[in-house]
Amino acid sequence: MKIFISADMEGISGVATNVQLKKNDEYQRFRRLMTLDVNAAIEGAFKGGATEVVVADGHGNMSNILVEELDERARLVSGNNRVMCQLQGLDETFDGIMFVGHHGREAGSDRAVISHTLAGICVGEMRINGKVVGETEMNAGAAGSFHVPPIFVSGDDAYVAEVKETFPDIEAAVVKTGVDRFAAELIPPARARKLIKENAEAAVRKASNIKPYLVESPITFDIEFKGPQQALMTTTIPTVEKTGPKSIRFTCDDYMTAYKQMWGLVIIAMSATNGVLGEVNA
Ligand SMILES: [Zn+2]
Repeated sequence: MKIFISADMEGISGVATNVQLKKNDEYQRFRRLMTLDVNAAIEGAFKGGATEVVVADGHGNMSNILVEELDERARLVSGNNRVMCQLQGLDETFDGIMFVGHHGREAGSDRAVISHTLAGICVGEMRINGKVVGETEMNAGAAGSFHVPPIFVSGDDAYVAEVKETFPDIEAAVVKTGVDRFAAELIPPARARKLIKENAEAAVRKASNIKPYLVESPITFDIEFKGPQQALMTTTIPTVEKTGPKSIRFTCDDYMTAYKQMWGLVIIAMSATNGVLGEVNA
């Protein structure tokens, strides 16, 4: 049984505010905590019957997990420039996908810790076929196109409640309580890791009974960006249609093509924030 883990950092146990995730002395502590939460999920997965686990590091520059401390049974996709973004390495051979350390969507709950959708610098709202999504729903739809079901999430309580609106039966480890976007009531990571391990194990045990998340084709993405310059530059891609000063729409026949195009547009929008060739604006 093969399990894929998409690992992010905002929902890692012990994380409460953004500065802990930037490249500074604090960050070194938190990337270790990220590695340990991921290890707890790996351990639970193997206990539950997994025979292979692949982890994709999906936060920031996508190379946060300390490979030298990773559970030796797993493999790690690390580094950026990935056409499949947070899902690089996923295919139809997997039996379940877990979301470890993930977070609420942009403009979701006011208590969700470090909430955003994929790129806080540019994405205001993301909709797929009319439904507002966060990263978990968006990635679960991509996994669904490979018939891989979403089986487990870990993060703050507001994030878990948000995910359960779409996946009511998903196994979850609530590793902190959101207080504000940049504050949380924490439990010691050692205790959080026990929750992750137990619930990840339970998730893998019932993975074969969980249905993949299937989104009907064609797939239409509506993206509202934070600035008009971000939206306009994405119209360099021919199928992108402007729907408002800051919003765009495109449609693809299949989910993975749409997912990759979305990621490409987000990359364009990020680079357009202050001028694609590096001008510095106010
Ligand atoms: Zn992140």
